[in-house]
Amino acid sequence: METLPPETNRVLYFVAALALLAVLVLAVSLAKNRRFQPGDVFVASRLSRGNRIFPTQVAVTPTSVVQFKPQWLGRQEHSIHISHVASVTVDTGLLLSDVIIETSGGSEPIRCHGHHKGDAIRMKQLIDQYQTHRAPATEVSATDGGATRDCPFCAETIKAAAKVCRYCGRDLPGA
Ligand SMILES: [Zn+2]
Repeated sequence: METLPPETNRVLYFVAALALLAVLVLAVSLAKNRRFQPGDVFVASRLSRGNRIFPTQVAVTPTSVVQFKPQWLGRQEHSIHISHVASVTVDTGLLLSDVIIETSGGSEPIRCHGHHKGDAIRMKQLIDQYQTHRAPATEVSATDGGATRDCPFCAETIKAAAKVCRYCGRDLPGA
């Protein structure tokens, strides 16, 4: 190495510094791009605008929709309660889809940009499902409270007046 001219050393240092920087950037982006929470999290495609280094993530849970955007310093999070979702629109382009979640009550809509088509459809399905299952679930248990029993064959909870189990299909003894 001592025989190398000083310019070569400088070039070597420069290359080493660049390599170190590249490794750092990679490490930071890997750490930041981990799924920010368990469950149904959808990551935007890196092919789409604004998603190349830190793709936006969208989590759909039974209680909320959270849009999560990692940044070099910190992160951006925007969440709306599932009951405040007014409508979900999937806008499919040539390759990727945008999911637009409109809210009731004046808060800003969440625009999820650049998702794969399958993910977009799944997001809409999940939100629809969580929305429709929320309200009736509490109503049913309130009005039908107590009017159930356990099937003696499969142990599923069924209506007390049922003559046939809706889970295992067996004839039931009278209530
Ligand atoms: Zn049964």
